[in-house]
Amino acid sequence: MPGHGGSPNLTNLEIGRAVAYMINQSGGHWVEPASAKDLSRYGVLAEYHRKRRFDVTPEPAGRPRRKKTGPAARGLAFVVQKHRASHLHYDFRLEHRGAMLSWAVPKGPSFDPAVKRLAMQVEDHPIEYNKFEGIIPDGEYGGGTVMIWDAGHWTPEPADVDAALKRGELKFRLEGKKLRGSWVLVRTRGRPGDSKPAWLLIKHRDEWTSTEEVTELAPRSIVSNRLLVEIARDEGGNVQKAADGDPSALLREILNNPGIA
Ligand code: MN
Repeated sequence: MPGHGGSPNLTNLEIGRAVAYMINQSGGHWVEPASAKDLSRYGVLAEYHRKRRFDVTPEPAGRPRRKKTGPAARGLAFVVQKHRASHLHYDFRLEHRGAMLSWAVPKGPSFDPAVKRLAMQVEDHPIEYNKFEGIIPDGEYGGGTVMIWDAGHWTPEPADVDAALKRGELKFRLEGKKLRGSWVLVRTRGRPGDSKPAWLLIKHRDEWTSTEEVTELAPRSIVSNRLLVEIARDEGGNVQKAADGDPSALLREILNNPGIA
C-alpha cells in the first residue's frame, strides 16, 4: 500500500536521517510532515492548517463553522487584509459555508470599472481570521505585517454561490467602511485541473464608481487607524519592510510633520 505509514522497507537509520533532514529544513523546528497529519477534520481549512505552525504564528487556528440553516441574521462577513509578506497584496475574503473564501489581490481593489485587478484564489481561511491584525513571524508562511484594511458584509447576487464559483463568475454587493456597491469576480482560465486559478476583481458601474485609488486615499486600518509601518513598530515587526507597503507620499508627510502620526 503506498502512502504514509505504509513504507515497511525504511530502516530506523533511514527514518532517523529523514527526521534530521526535515528538522534541518524547517530551521531547527520539528515539523510533522504534512502528509503524516490527518487534517481532514479541518474540512475546507485543511490547507490553511497544513501551511501554518500555530505554536509559532499568532494567526488563529480556527475551525470551519457549521453550515447555518436559514439566512444568518448578521449577514455574511467580508474582510480585506492588507498584507506585506514577500510581496504586498490585499487578501480579499468572503464568508461562505462557515469559512472565508480568499483571494490575494496584489494591487488591491479599484472603484474604476475599467480596471481589472488580478485576484489569485488562495486557501480558505477561518472566520476568526477576520479579526487578525499583527505580525506573522519571519520564516513562517506569509511572514510579515497584516492590517485589517476593510470589513463589513457582502451579499451574493446569485442565489447559488457554489454554482457561481463553479461557473467562474460571482457577482456581489459590498457594504464595508471603504468598499461599497456592486462588484464581480471573474475566473480567467477555467482549466479543469486548476483548483485555485486566477480571477479578476472588477467594479460594476454604479453610484460608487470612481477613478480615485482607494488604496492610496484610505491606506489605514479600519480597526486601529494604523499604517502598516505603525503596526510593525507597535508589534515588533519588520518596520522597513512594512513601510514600503504604505503610500510613500504619506510617509514623507509624517516624517516632515511627526505630530500628525
Ligand atoms: Mn496574504
